[in-house]
Amino acid sequence: MFNKMIAAMLPYFPKKLIWIFSKRYIAGETVEDAIRASKDLNSKGIKVTIDILGEFIKNLSEAEKNKVEYMELIDRIQKENIDGNYSLKPTMFGLLLDKDACYGHIREIVAKAASYNNFIRVDMEDSPCTDMEIELYRKLKAEFPKNVGLVVQAYMKRTYQDLENLMDIHSSETPLNYRLCKGIYVEPEAIAYKKYEEINQHYLEDLEYMLKNGVYPGIATHDKPLIDGAYKLIEKYNVPKNMYEFQMLYGVTPELRNSIVEKGHTMRIYIPYGKQWFGYSTRRLKENPKMASLIIKALFFR
Ligand code: FAD
Repeated sequence: MFNKMIAAMLPYFPKKLIWIFSKRYIAGETVEDAIRASKDLNSKGIKVTIDILGEFIKNLSEAEKNKVEYMELIDRIQKENIDGNYSLKPTMFGLLLDKDACYGHIREIVAKAASYNNFIRVDMEDSPCTDMEIELYRKLKAEFPKNVGLVVQAYMKRTYQDLENLMDIHSSETPLNYRLCKGIYVEPEAIAYKKYEEINQHYLEDLEYMLKNGVYPGIATHDKPLIDGAYKLIEKYNVPKNMYEFQMLYGVTPELRNSIVEKGHTMRIYIPYGKQWFGYSTRRLKENPKMASLIIKALFFR
């Protein structure tokens, strides 16, 4: 209860204080910071996916600016020979303001990544975006079948059905490529599972559906029981190592991450960077209220 109260107060905490605790989750404010973090992980045999922080813009001129930033990022990362791809949030390109303009911007970014034979992952945001983000993926995959992927959230009651519906654009040459995560936004009970056990059960059902149908999953979790469940499914369906990967967030559970890498599985770390780190950080801290209570202790018991 105490931890939850603190989590709710987080947006009102001084930015400097939040930074002290959130810097472990963020590479830094600049592309150089992202490159440094990526090279460090690459040197340990770990791939990355780089994300420029920002979401839910208020006017379309911001979308244009964000697109230019991604285009420059892609050129830079390719020059640096980093073993990584890119993630982006459609609301950063105006999904909720002008769907077509947003599609145009993201299409240009995917085309740029495709010109380097690279890949863009469309992050999944909250439920008002779900249909539009699936539609965006469908359109992009039709034009760039190997260069784009989507995120799906196990807590959403609709997800299994979405997986079935999307099979019409799957083929063994250009498989569907999902990141499967639990889901981080606060959603109403009518549309989302709320209990840990329920979410985990559906996570493994979704993963099993992907593995048995030849869909490529990014198994994005830090939850040991889910990772053990994934190992079992990979064995059950005898899935080759190049047909799945594990994914984790920068700075979270490094020991568990290393144990997966040591077993010879592909691991990709999500590296966020940029000036707009505050929203991302407060979400991560809300997710982990123990860290939030450390913040309040630091405020009052220095
Ligand atoms: P949990 O049950 O939440 O956590 C399991 C254990 O992991 C915890 O007990 C704790 O030990 C550790 N842990 C988890 N989070 C933290 C943390 N912040 N700090 C310290 N320890 C922690 N969600 C979306 O809705 N859309 C997306 O596009 C999206 N992309 C993601 C990309 C990646 C690569 C990953 C890993 C997650 C992404 N998420 C996304 C977030 C995801 O939905 C979950 O909210 C988040 O991963 C926590 O769930 P979990 O599976 O780790 O399980």
